[in-house]
Amino acid sequence: MMNDEFYDNDENIREEWSCSLSPDDPHRSGIPFSRRIRLARIVGLAGLFLPMASVLVTHFLSGGWWLLLVGWAFVWPHLAWQLACRAADPCAREILNLKVDAMVAGIWIGLMGVNALPAVALVVMIAMNMMGAGGCRLFIAGLAITVLSTLVTLQLAGSVSAFSPDPLEWGLTLPFLVCYPILFAWLSYRTAIRLAEHRRRLALMSTRDGMTGVFNRRHWEMLLRNEYETCRRSRQGATILLIDIDRFKNINDTWGHDVGDEAIIAITRQLQMTLRAGDCIGRFGGDEFAVIMSGTSAESGIAAMSRVHERLEHMSLPGAPGERLQISVGVAAWGPQFEHYRAWLKAADVALYKAKNAGRGRTEVAA
Ligand code: GH3
Ligand code: MG
Repeated sequence: MMNDEFYDNDENIREEWSCSLSPDDPHRSGIPFSRRIRLARIVGLAGLFLPMASVLVTHFLSGGWWLLLVGWAFVWPHLAWQLACRAADPCAREILNLKVDAMVAGIWIGLMGVNALPAVALVVMIAMNMMGAGGCRLFIAGLAITVLSTLVTLQLAGSVSAFSPDPLEWGLTLPFLVCYPILFAWLSYRTAIRLAEHRRRLALMSTRDGMTGVFNRRHWEMLLRNEYETCRRSRQGATILLIDIDRFKNINDTWGHDVGDEAIIAITRQLQMTLRAGDCIGRFGGDEFAVIMSGTSAESGIAAMSRVHERLEHMSLPGAPGERLQISVGVAAWGPQFEHYRAWLKAADVALYKAKNAGRGRTEVAA
């Protein structure tokens, strides 16, 4: 991404940064995880209610058991969400909720006589939730809990029935067996998209200066290294510029740091508006900037900088009326005499020093 592309997206990216940079804690990061499970749980348990009821009705359960089934299918998903939201660590609480799911599922599987088709669907749902939320370890733990609670329930109350689902059972359970994996895949897809977006933000943050949005020094130097190698291989020209605001300490001291920041941002904008889209602007920290102009001669670099000098003469800062911003610039065109990219940078630095010594507000070229 070159300088003007970033300029267009500037506001969005700053907003993104402020979100990403705000302090993270287990509570905040656990809520999206919990929300994902909530949707899977609401749909999964509601979808299994009728298939389970169609089997349990043949077991002549008491009213209390029916109340428990309704509560588990329709109330528990919301209760589990509330418990996770209120927990200091929603992620840990959600894992506990999933284990409760596994245990209660085992009880219903035991009551249904194990072999019923909805029992298979329950195991599928629990297994997918466990694997999706915590990988193999949670999957194995979940299955173990389910098997254990099934065995205990069978011991206490149940009897194993033959696996001969009737058409009603098939009709009620098959839609769940088809739809639940699709829902799960969609939730996984959404998570993958979010992760990709997060990675993109992190990549952006690692290459950009937080205040101005131009490249940070580390990334800019990497671009310079690449440019240096390209110049050496292809002998195509390139010019680098080092830019430093003149008497910036005075601006800070007279008008305050806020106005100083405003000046840094204003100069960045002037550079972005004056230079070409392909020029790479970086902030070296403090009041110093650097630019790589690919395939450009020193003369063109100087011409571009005289336009910036001119623009600055007519620019005033809202926070500091009457204050004129000036910059000094050191220019160095690539040449085979530079044995390292740092030697090239050093040449631009020496030229900048020359501009400062020659009275500031001017551009000097490396000898
Ligand atoms: P010169 O003409 O020789 O460059 O003089 P100068 O006063 O500009 O000196 P120098 O470039 O060394 O000063 C840089 C100052 O910039 C020092 C520091 O207080 C200030 N500064 C560094 N980073 C920031 C920033 O992010 N915001 C503000 N407002 N000031 C900064
Ligand atoms: Mg300065």
